[in-house]
Amino acid sequence: MSRHPNVLGAIGNTPLIRLKRASEETGCEIYGKAEFLNPGQSVKDRAGLFIVQDAEKKGLLEPGGVIVEGTAGNTGIGLSLVADALGYRTVIVIPETQSQEKKDALRLMGAELVEVPAVPYKDPNNYVKLSGRLAEQLARTHPQGAIWANQFDNVANREGHMVTTAEEIWSTTGGEIDGFICAVGTGGTLAGVAAGLKKHSGHIRIGIADPIGAALYSYYTTGELRSEGSSITEGIGQGRITGNLEGFRPDFACQVADEEAVRIVFDLLVEEGLCLGGSSGVNVAGAIRMAREMGPGHTIVTILCDYGNRYQSKLFNPDFLRSKHLPVPAWMEPRERGFD
Ligand code: PMP
Repeated sequence: MSRHPNVLGAIGNTPLIRLKRASEETGCEIYGKAEFLNPGQSVKDRAGLFIVQDAEKKGLLEPGGVIVEGTAGNTGIGLSLVADALGYRTVIVIPETQSQEKKDALRLMGAELVEVPAVPYKDPNNYVKLSGRLAEQLARTHPQGAIWANQFDNVANREGHMVTTAEEIWSTTGGEIDGFICAVGTGGTLAGVAAGLKKHSGHIRIGIADPIGAALYSYYTTGELRSEGSSITEGIGQGRITGNLEGFRPDFACQVADEEAVRIVFDLLVEEGLCLGGSSGVNVAGAIRMAREMGPGHTIVTILCDYGNRYQSKLFNPDFLRSKHLPVPAWMEPRERGFD
């Protein structure tokens, strides 16, 4: 057990959990890094911490200063808890379509929310672009100033994963790791872990698992950013090469449909006691594909990004699943409780 001066020390150092069914079905050892155990219940606490520490080092933040960000939720939660612990304020611009639970968690952490319609990145009113303009405005008018966290293009995000997540994976596996794969939101996790692991061994295969509707699978297989369709997963699915993805190239790429990701999330909950969000389903599906491609006997690590309670009203709601034409598992239907 460790003792920390504040909550920031509790970010990271998450365990690897062996995924039983995925391992047994492939003959590989597949592990999920339990990022849902971070204090903000997601992988994004790390980005929040590194972005704020980087701004402090550069002298951009003073006590009472405002941190502004456009986020699907988890980065906002990470930034807010870091801001609370260090005496800053947070203003979060979030697309209306994100789950109510994430919005509630943000408000609970003291963030001020600006909810905006979900429009594509090329639109000037996209939430990321709006957050940048809001940060500029607040930097001029707020007495203690403001910064834009800019998680997509701020490489402090990737750096954080390179020096923490990758090192933890390397030391927890004792260097016995053949592959790493995950999905991309900003690309901070994937590009950062890839860079960190490749420093230890150039033989580790790096994979990207892309949800339907994202453009990176197409980019890394054909050189063209093309996308079609959409996904119910949140926090992942990128349509451009972000600053964090610059210079990154995967060795393996696959595309994962919602049906497959959702089935895996439900199986992990019922069979293995892991309550996770949809992006973790895409990641584990990717790890299984990579294991099949590499053959039995390999060790592959992926990320269990966030905790499932954040999606109770969507992914774990039969009406929502039906509205998306996704199968509803029998155990999820309301029924009389009983043991017969
Ligand atoms: N899963 C979830 C639930 C997320 O919120 C995010 C971050 N947006 C990711 C995965 C992807 O992480 P990254 O931004 O490091 O690519």
